[in-house]
Amino acid sequence: MNSKSVVVIGAGPGGEAAAKRAAELGAQVTIIERAEVGGLCLNAGCIPSKMLLEGGRLLRQVRSAAYLVGGSTASIHWDMLQEKKRGLVTHFRKSLEQRFGQLKIRLVRGDARFVSPHSVRVTGPEGAQNIDFETAVIATGSAPFFPPPFDPSVQDILDSDRVLNLTQVPKSLVVVGGGAVGLEFACLFHELGTAVTVVEKMPQLLPGEEASVSRFLQQSFEKRGIKVHTEQTVTSAEKSSDGWRITLSKGEECFAERVLVCVGRRASLNDLGLELAGVSVERGRIAVNDFMQTSRASIYAVGDVNGLSLLAHAAAVQGSVAVGHMMGKGTSYAHARVPRCLYTWPEVASVGEWTHSASIKDLEVKTQRFFFQGSAKALAAEEGEGFIQILSNKKDGRLLGAQIIGPHATELIHILSVALAAGQTVDQLRQVIFAHPTLSEGIPGALGR
Ligand code: FAD
Repeated sequence: MNSKSVVVIGAGPGGEAAAKRAAELGAQVTIIERAEVGGLCLNAGCIPSKMLLEGGRLLRQVRSAAYLVGGSTASIHWDMLQEKKRGLVTHFRKSLEQRFGQLKIRLVRGDARFVSPHSVRVTGPEGAQNIDFETAVIATGSAPFFPPPFDPSVQDILDSDRVLNLTQVPKSLVVVGGGAVGLEFACLFHELGTAVTVVEKMPQLLPGEEASVSRFLQQSFEKRGIKVHTEQTVTSAEKSSDGWRITLSKGEECFAERVLVCVGRRASLNDLGLELAGVSVERGRIAVNDFMQTSRASIYAVGDVNGLSLLAHAAAVQGSVAVGHMMGKGTSYAHARVPRCLYTWPEVASVGEWTHSASIKDLEVKTQRFFFQGSAKALAAEEGEGFIQILSNKKDGRLLGAQIIGPHATELIHILSVALAAGQTVDQLRQVIFAHPTLSEGIPGALGR
C-alpha cells in the first residue's frame, strides 16, 4: 500500500475531494482548516444561499398557485428560514467531520503557512506545530473583493457573507455586481418584497454568458420590477441615517436601505509563505498545469485559489485530478465539461462552448432552440419562460455546448453534459427517447425530432 504523506490546506470542496481521494488511495492525509470544515461552499456560499433561495422559490410557487387555491397572502418567515439554513449547514459539517474520521484523515485546526517546500507551520487553538509532507495540496479558496468607493471595514456594507446572516429582510437593496452571486441575491430579495436595483459594469448581466440568455434574464428581472443598470459603475456611496445614496457613472442616483457588493473574489494567498515553498503566483492566483501542479512539482493548487473557475464542483474535480496525478492514477482536468449554474428564477445553466467562444475557435456552429412556451409540462407548472439552446458543429454534427434558461435548467443541463462528455452528435442524441410530457423532451424538441 502507498503511504505517501499528503498535507491539504483548506477543507472546502477542493480540499475535501483531495483529502478523501488521497485517503482512499492509501495515503496518510492531514487536512488543515482555520475555520469550519466545508469551506465557503458549505458555510457561506452554495449551501446557505441555495437554502435561502429555496425559501424564495417556494414562496413564489405558492403565490403563483393563488388562483387555484382561492388566493394567497403567503409571506416568508425569515427567522425560520435562517434557522433551517443553520440546521442544514450544521448537519453537513458534522457528516463531513465524521467522513474524515472514517477515512482516517487527520483534521488539524489552525492557520497553515509553508516554512519550506516540504513543511508547513500550523498555528491554532492548540498552539503551533510543524507538519512535514511529501506532497501538498493548497485549497485555500478566495475572499471577496471591494472596489472603490467601498470600504470593506464599514460593517454596514453587505458582502456575500454578511447578507446571508441578515436578521431582517431590507426594504430596499442596491446590488453592485451582476454576476452569479449578485443576481441570486437580487432575485431572492425581490421575491421577499425588497425593492432591488442591480448595477453591472459590463454591457450585460452575467458577463461571459451567452448574450441572448443574459438579455432574456434581464428582461425577466425588469418585467418583475427589478431595476437593472448595465455599463455603469458606482462613483460614490454615501451613508445617511435612512440608508445609502449611490451615484452611478452616468450620473443617475439610487437610494437604498442596504448595499450589497458582489463584484468578484480574489485568491486567498496572504500569509501562506508561498515564496518559501517555491510556488509561483501569476496575476494574483497560483499558476497550475492541467494536473493542478504548481511551479513546485510536489505542491498542487485546486479550487478558487488557482482562479480557473470559481465553482465548488470545479474545485472538487480539481482536487481529485491533483491527487490522481500525485498517486500515478491521473487524468487531466477537463475545464470544458464544467457546467455553470445560476439558481435564479428563471434558472440559467450552460456547459461547453457558447456561440462567442466557438467563434473564437473558428468553429462553424449550428444553433437549435426549443422555447418552454411549447412545453405542456412547463405551462402546467406556470413556468413557460425560457429556452433550451444546443450548439453543434456544422461539419460533423458533434455537440459543442448548450445553454438553458428556464424551469429546472440546473438539472436539465446534465443531460447535455453527459452527451457532450460522450462526444455525441446531434443524430445520436436524437436516438434517445425522452418521456412525454417532461421538460427534458425540450432537448429533442430543439433538435427537431
Ligand atoms: P473554499 O470553499 O473557499 O475553502 C477554502 C478553505 O480554506 C476555507 O475553509 C478556509 O477557511 C481555508 N483556509 C484558507 N486559508 C487557510 C490557511 N492558511 N490555513 C488553513 N485553512 C485555510 N459554487 C457553486 O459551484 N455553486 C453554487 O451554487 C455556488 N454558490 C455560491 C454562493 C455564494 C454566496 C458564494 C460566495 C459562492 C458560491 N459558489 C458556488 C462558489 C463556491 O463556494 C466556491 O467556488 C468554492 O467554495 C471554492 O472551493 P475551494 O475549496 O476552492 O475553497
